[in-house]
Amino acid sequence: MHDHGPHDLLVIGSANADLVIGVERRPAPGETVLGSDLSVHPGGKGANQAVAAARLGARAALIARVGDDDHGRLLLRSQRAAGVDTAGVLVGGAPTGVALITVDPSGDNSIVVSPGANARLTPADVRAAEDLLAEARVISVQLEIPLDTVAEVVAVLPPTARLVLNPSPPAPLPPDVLAACDPLVLNEHEARFILGSSAGATPEEWAAGLLAIGPRSVVITLGAQGAFVADTRTGAPVHVPSPRVEAVDTTGAGDAFTAALAWRIGLGEPLATAAAFAVRVGAAAVTGQGAQESFPTAEEVAAL
Ligand code: ATP
Repeated sequence: MHDHGPHDLLVIGSANADLVIGVERRPAPGETVLGSDLSVHPGGKGANQAVAAARLGARAALIARVGDDDHGRLLLRSQRAAGVDTAGVLVGGAPTGVALITVDPSGDNSIVVSPGANARLTPADVRAAEDLLAEARVISVQLEIPLDTVAEVVAVLPPTARLVLNPSPPAPLPPDVLAACDPLVLNEHEARFILGSSAGATPEEWAAGLLAIGPRSVVITLGAQGAFVADTRTGAPVHVPSPRVEAVDTTGAGDAFTAALAWRIGLGEPLATAAAFAVRVGAAAVTGQGAQESFPTAEEVAAL
């Protein structure tokens, strides 16, 4: 356990309980279907990233909000079991965020998210965690918490800290938030959302379009194709291929990738070098079932 700082990575984001039921067929409007036994998993992009980094050996800390309920306790247990510092996890104010997930035999799912306590993680909560922020080398945020709270992270970002932002679920971002990203980490769908009709058709075009609106660097994840890295401080953008693996379940691959990347740039690695490690972590994560359960240790990444 790494219960005291300094931390390699500070994640500020969501924590959800994923409630999963397997069904033969997802229900149509007004319909009731019978499903499998319920399984409950710790999830949410913030919680996933903190666990992914800690599993790799990073000293990770999480700022999040959960409810004073069984789901909140499940999330705190899974964080602590992975070695994440949970001193910044606030408890109460609303029920823990929940994702209600139905999955059919082809793997297609329907999801309802109740943000719950995640929606109550406020700018004031960020300011109150100034000690954690002050010592952070890298701060990683996503968009499952209020945009005001993300904007506050940018406003109080220490000059020595790098901000890694994964704009998921995609939402319009203010110019000062975009300008603080180093890197912006996103998939094709999120890139197209942010760029709109001017997006273009290739990772080269998306990266150029994104760099033109503010971030100092951009990493676009491309599933089995790996990632595309563009940094305004270095030369030409590079494509980083992913190892070939037997994909079992891609849930959480993006979170594992982003956590690994953020951790490694905080250790001083160039962005492309960190991405070459992160694609291996993402690839390892898709070889196992579930999100946090599938996140690899450093040994498992090395063995890939
Ligand atoms: P998700 O929403 O499923 O968590 P995402 O859309 O945010 O994922 P992806 O680009 O699908 O992100 O995956 C992130 C990284 O995981 C990729 O850059 C790659 O390294 C790895 N990865 C994902 N799918 C595969 C795959 N089928 N084979 C090998 N590597 C993969």
